[in-house]
Amino acid sequence: MHTVVLLPDKRKIPVGKIICLGKNYAEHAKEFGGDVPKSPIIFLKPSTAIIENGVDIVLPPLSKNVHHEVELTVLIGRSGKNISKSEAMNHVAGYGIGLDMTMRDKQSEAKKEGNPWSIAKGFDTSAPLSPFVPKASVGDPYNLDIKLSVNGKQRQYSNTGKMIFKIDEIIAFLSLAFTLEEGDVIFTGTPEGVGQVIASDIIDAEISGVGSLHHRVVALKSK
Ligand code: MG
Repeated sequence: MHTVVLLPDKRKIPVGKIICLGKNYAEHAKEFGGDVPKSPIIFLKPSTAIIENGVDIVLPPLSKNVHHEVELTVLIGRSGKNISKSEAMNHVAGYGIGLDMTMRDKQSEAKKEGNPWSIAKGFDTSAPLSPFVPKASVGDPYNLDIKLSVNGKQRQYSNTGKMIFKIDEIIAFLSLAFTLEEGDVIFTGTPEGVGQVIASDIIDAEISGVGSLHHRVVALKSK
């Protein structure tokens, strides 16, 4: 069972679903020549993708182009189905920072061929997650600076105010299809500036008032 930590008492919470949004920042949607989506683009990662802060990100030999995506993550604290937008925030336990590591070449191939891209997004170590801070400790989740650097050079820098679908809308939308359960994690999408990492790179990422991540990138050891 894979767990995440909820501060301040460091309670360990088993993770159920990891639900991710695609193209939830306009400038990132543009990077891929895409329009801003009319409704949320949703995909899932397995809980085996989770690593905690500091653990190495392992590049699968299936890809020649693994990208970083830094994202605000939301921990669900209360189960629900068909949740209204006005009730949605009552289901949030806390916020964290996550990386949505992506085999971009595999994702692009799959998109082109109309195939699922689960493997491109769901491989082991593709979901580094910080401890979660309680919702009450984050004043406004739509005014948080979000940034990521590789080897000390800044690659991504934005503000969560620029997300297209807000957290209450996302929860209301998802709960029309999924029962949301305590321990589910939502990745709210990445801002612009995504790019490749290679073995021995160091990734540092931070969301002000929420948390930070520090990871080394390594290649999968051959047998
Ligand atoms: Mg993403």
